[in-house]
Amino acid sequence: MVGMCQVNMLDEEWMMKAKCRAIEREMFFDKYEEDPILAKTVDETICLQCPVIRECFTWGTTNSEWGVWGGVYLVDGEPSPSKNAHKTKDVWSMILEAVSDG
Ligand code: SF4
Repeated sequence: MVGMCQVNMLDEEWMMKAKCRAIEREMFFDKYEEDPILAKTVDETICLQCPVIRECFTWGTTNSEWGVWGGVYLVDGEPSPSKNAHKTKDVWSMILEAVSDG
């Protein structure tokens, strides 16, 4: 299925600021799972540059979502080890810092 990022299907104020609003939805689901190079690009050039990465991650984990939320591939709201295996230690550090409260 080709469509826009999942945030377009929802109705929260922070989603209006999402960097992925005009990006093909499958970049955050099937294509992310299948292509580690594309997944790395999504992590580093889309989600880590997104002004609402923290809100996105919180939404995904709180609502038991699947797919990429806050730069992390979630399965039922939990980070998936296999689908995030392409991430380097540095990228994990940047994501954790971006999504943390403090
Ligand atoms: S963090 Fe990534 S998936 Fe979440 S709103 Fe931003 S660009 Fe979209």
